[in-house]
Parts: sequence; structure tokens; C-alpha cells
Amino acid sequence: MVASVHYTGTFPEDGEEFDSSKGSEPLSFLVGHKQMIPGFEREMMGATVGEKRTFTLPPEDAYGQPSDENVVELAKEQFGEITPTEGMMLMSDAGPFRVVGVNEETVKVDFNHPMAGRTLKFEVEVMDIRKASSEELLHGHAHGPGGYQH
Ligand code: ZN
Repeated sequence: MVASVHYTGTFPEDGEEFDSSKGSEPLSFLVGHKQMIPGFEREMMGATVGEKRTFTLPPEDAYGQPSDENVVELAKEQFGEITPTEGMMLMSDAGPFRVVGVNEETVKVDFNHPMAGRTLKFEVEVMDIRKASSEELLHGHAHGPGGYQH
């Protein structure tokens, strides 16, 4: 199945919104293919079109807990043309990371997900549910508006 949902994600402690599909296409995802954080699919299980659900996920059901093992030092020359500065978000083969410290010859970087350790609250409305195409099942993600376009 492919579910299309409108959602708003907030941090429950201060109500700050970190993500929302408002003003754009609803998010489409292939159910049961780990496209979403684990708790999201679990909480939406059995939801029908038009249904609204609100739930709060602890870090374990969202982006996990940050780990010191994900903070590493890289040689400055690995950055090539880029001059790393603290707070900078960069992309690598191993995924996105944040620069947390710049030394003379090395750069300390953090591969933890920016939302690791956070509790997340979601308000979700189911806009559409349809059968997945065989191509989508093969790719492991949803196609079309709100999904992968390729
Ligand atoms: Zn695809």
C-alpha cells in the first residue's frame, strides 16, 4: 500500500514545528518498507482515509539516541575546497554530518541525526491510501506527487 498523509511534526517541550507537509503535496510512502521512522508507521497502522491521528514518539521510536561513536575527527585536507566552520552541515558518502569543532589539522564532525535524542510529536491526516504498483514494491518507495519522481 501507498499512504499519502499531511503531517506536522513538533517538539512537545516547546511546540516548535520542525517539519510539515502544509503548503505542499502530501507525503507519500510505501507502507512497511522502512521509509518512515519506526514509530510513525506503527502509530498509523489501520488508519483510514480522512482519519486524523496525533501521537508522541520517544527517541527510540524516532531517530534514536545520539552516540559518541558517531562523533569523529577527520583530517582537514579531506574537506578539499570547503573551509569547515562550526555548525556547518555537510554531506558525505556516509550520510549528512555537522561540523562541531575545527582544530589546526583536524575537524571534529558529528554523524548523529540532528533529531537524535529528541521526542517528536506528530499530527497526521490520511489523505489517500492506494495499492502500490509492482514498480514501487521493487524500488521500496512510493512514486508520484509527494513520493519519488523518477
Ligand atoms: Zn523508484
